[in-house]
Amino acid sequence: MLSLVLIACLGLLSAWGLLRYQQTAVRQMKEAELAAQALHDLAYRDSLTGAENRRSFMERLGTEFVRLKRTHSAAVLIMLDIDFFKRVNDTFGHDMGDAVLCHLVAVLQSALRGMDTLGRLGGEEFAVLLPETSMDAATLLAERLRQAVESCPANLDGKQVAFTISLGVTTLTADTPDVNFALKQADAAMYQAKHMGRNRVCVA
Ligand code: GH3
Ligand code: MG
Ligand code: MG
Repeated sequence: MLSLVLIACLGLLSAWGLLRYQQTAVRQMKEAELAAQALHDLAYRDSLTGAENRRSFMERLGTEFVRLKRTHSAAVLIMLDIDFFKRVNDTFGHDMGDAVLCHLVAVLQSALRGMDTLGRLGGEEFAVLLPETSMDAATLLAERLRQAVESCPANLDGKQVAFTISLGVTTLTADTPDVNFALKQADAAMYQAKHMGRNRVCVA
């Protein structure tokens, strides 16, 4: 009888041990996944805004270019830059400038599809990659982005800052020589928008 009780106790103990071992293993796997995700974000995301960083954006652009050449489809590239951003920093301080950058990313992301990529190329300059998109649809979207930003000021500590963006739009097709050509085209269109008075969309 005693040995039966002992065997039962040993069985219960080992079942409990196995359960604990499994729980620890699952917890360690989750921690490893989180650590890997954090490392990935560090390498591929802009730490201030959460948008893709330049490196990540360029990688996606390169991948999309290879894909569209194979499938003979088209994508659209939009470059955009905040108008008179230096004034925001000078007037309201650097923290408000940072808040404007984060707010801009949130506004843009909410208007984009899951398959689109928003990247911070540097400073207050961003790019959007729209796979499988016609120029007409992209031009309409760019105008929608412009209007959304114009009508939605950023907030920090009870202060509101209205701001605008200038956008340049270009296509990316199998005939495009390389991605740098497309980036230059979109950049030139964006600067045309600046020269024409800012807060507008120009097409390359
Ligand atoms: P434009 O309409 O011609 O684009 O004028 P602008 O004032 O936006 O352009 P300019 O290049 O003169 O100024 C860009 C400013 O962006 C200067 C720089 O200090 C600021 N900036 C760049 N990165 C950051 C950032 O991460 N945070 C903040 N707060 N400011 C930044
Ligand atoms: Mg600017
Ligand atoms: Mg700039």
